[in-house]
Amino acid sequence: MIIVMEKNTPQEQIEQVSEKLKDKGFQVHLSQGVERIIIGAIGERSQAIMEMFETLPGVEKIVPIVQPFKLASREFKHQTSVVRVGDNPIGDGKIQIIAGPCAVESRELFLEAAMMVKEAGATMLRGGAFKPRTSPYSFQGLEEEGLKILAEARELTGLPVVTEVMDPRIIDIVACYADVLQVGARNMQNFFLLRELGKINKPVLLKRGPSATIEEWIMAAEYIISSGNSQVIMCERGIRTFENYTRNTLDLSAVPLIKQLTHLPIIVDPSHGTGKWKLVEPMALAAIGAGCDGLMVEVHQNPSEALSDGPQSLTPENFNTMVKKIQNLKAALENGQ
Ligand code: PEP
Ligand code: MN
Repeated sequence: MIIVMEKNTPQEQIEQVSEKLKDKGFQVHLSQGVERIIIGAIGERSQAIMEMFETLPGVEKIVPIVQPFKLASREFKHQTSVVRVGDNPIGDGKIQIIAGPCAVESRELFLEAAMMVKEAGATMLRGGAFKPRTSPYSFQGLEEEGLKILAEARELTGLPVVTEVMDPRIIDIVACYADVLQVGARNMQNFFLLRELGKINKPVLLKRGPSATIEEWIMAAEYIISSGNSQVIMCERGIRTFENYTRNTLDLSAVPLIKQLTHLPIIVDPSHGTGKWKLVEPMALAAIGAGCDGLMVEVHQNPSEALSDGPQSLTPENFNTMVKKIQNLKAALENGQ
């Protein structure tokens, strides 16, 4: 439930309510709204409990949250959350473009790709150092060496870096080099990993699981937030359906839905979402139209030679063309407002 405090409630009344909640076994999360403090109370709620809290000094009203997700919900927090990655805010109305190869393959290739995507207008870099591959015999990533290359690319370009963390045992090392830790689609319901990511103070990019419902995906975000880290960015990357011409089916309705149901920013990955480079630009533009806060796009200098995901990777030239169209579309949408 949510306890809405009266305007300008004295601190001691807020503390009194919080203490009482804890006594009754609730987890307490304070949120500063525009005008008043809102207390999110997570636990077993009953009519009697709600009535009791309603009588405490400073309490304006009690609002039950009917959704299974609480801290991620719009009911808990009306204003859209802005997740800050260095100087880049995600969720403030601008479009962030995260670009780079699927995997960090070598220092030379990655640094060159980083400069190319930056020049084309990317605002963050991506590249996997630990790769989740369907086959154990496929390229698994450069691991820590890859992380060091990512950090070097950040120095070179000034752009923050996003990379995947697959296991709780490597969170510390990945967090030491990366600006944003990505939870891959296959790990969306790795609850132990999610809990551990809730204990760090860095943004987490949470990809939607290949067969996750919207509710399961938001519940995964709830794991991270309820463990203490509210810097969660959702990422729609396509789901598995009966259609197999495309690698996945990009569910763009997730964008307005996540925005209606939660206060979290959402980006779209049309590369994994389609698996085909020719579909990346049209779906990226559609994602902007749907109202996303950013895109994650795979770019490789020579897609036919890529060690992973070549068929869905844009060349730097195609990426450049796409970014221009994105900028024009965004400007047209803003002018139309
Ligand atoms: C990736 O971004 O490189 C990746 C593996 O994505 P996903 O987890 O969405 O498959
Ligand atoms: Mn990939």
